[in-house]
Amino acid sequence: MNLKDYVANVPNFPKEGIQFKDITPLMSDGAAYNYATQKMVEFAKKQQAEVIVGPEARGFIFGCPVAHELKIGFAPVRKPGKLPRETVSFNYDLEYGSNTLCMHKDAIKPGQRVLIVDDLLATGGTVEATVKLIEQLGGVVVGCAFLIELEELNGRKLLENYEVLSLMKY
Ligand code: 5GP
Repeated sequence: MNLKDYVANVPNFPKEGIQFKDITPLMSDGAAYNYATQKMVEFAKKQQAEVIVGPEARGFIFGCPVAHELKIGFAPVRKPGKLPRETVSFNYDLEYGSNTLCMHKDAIKPGQRVLIVDDLLATGGTVEATVKLIEQLGGVVVGCAFLIELEELNGRKLLENYEVLSLMKY
């Protein structure tokens, strides 16, 4: 199966000059969606993941089916003000401004083997913040799985010390 057939390239979204990779055609095709998540399941098994962590919102779309298939848990990473109980947070810089991501303090048990799942690796800022949150909680990041990797943005450089799976590269 060629997964790239199920990704729509949208010019000038959400801003002028950005070519957005729209993954909703892949999600709406049952066979393609299942194929992609099964590849992540295989990786999660190989890395002996005990819990899946996914950043909002598209990390949920791929992370939850992987957790469900493996009968393991899923912990969300969210923007500030969304998680109702005590959280840990990590702040990181963007090209313009900054961003903060949060996790519940009890989302990961110390020593737990964690696989991060998201739809797309671009600059790596989101996944790096996610790694920091998991490590603050004492979790062990055993890998990061992405549907898409935008190679020219070099996000993989921030993940040098981690196992990375990407199902499509552009
Ligand atoms: P990064 O933090 O690596 O620069 O950006 C990755 C995050 O931004 C991911 O959580 C992803 O959902 C989102 N993202 C950035 N660009 C795109 C894109 O072109 N398509 C999709 N689907 N998500 C994107």
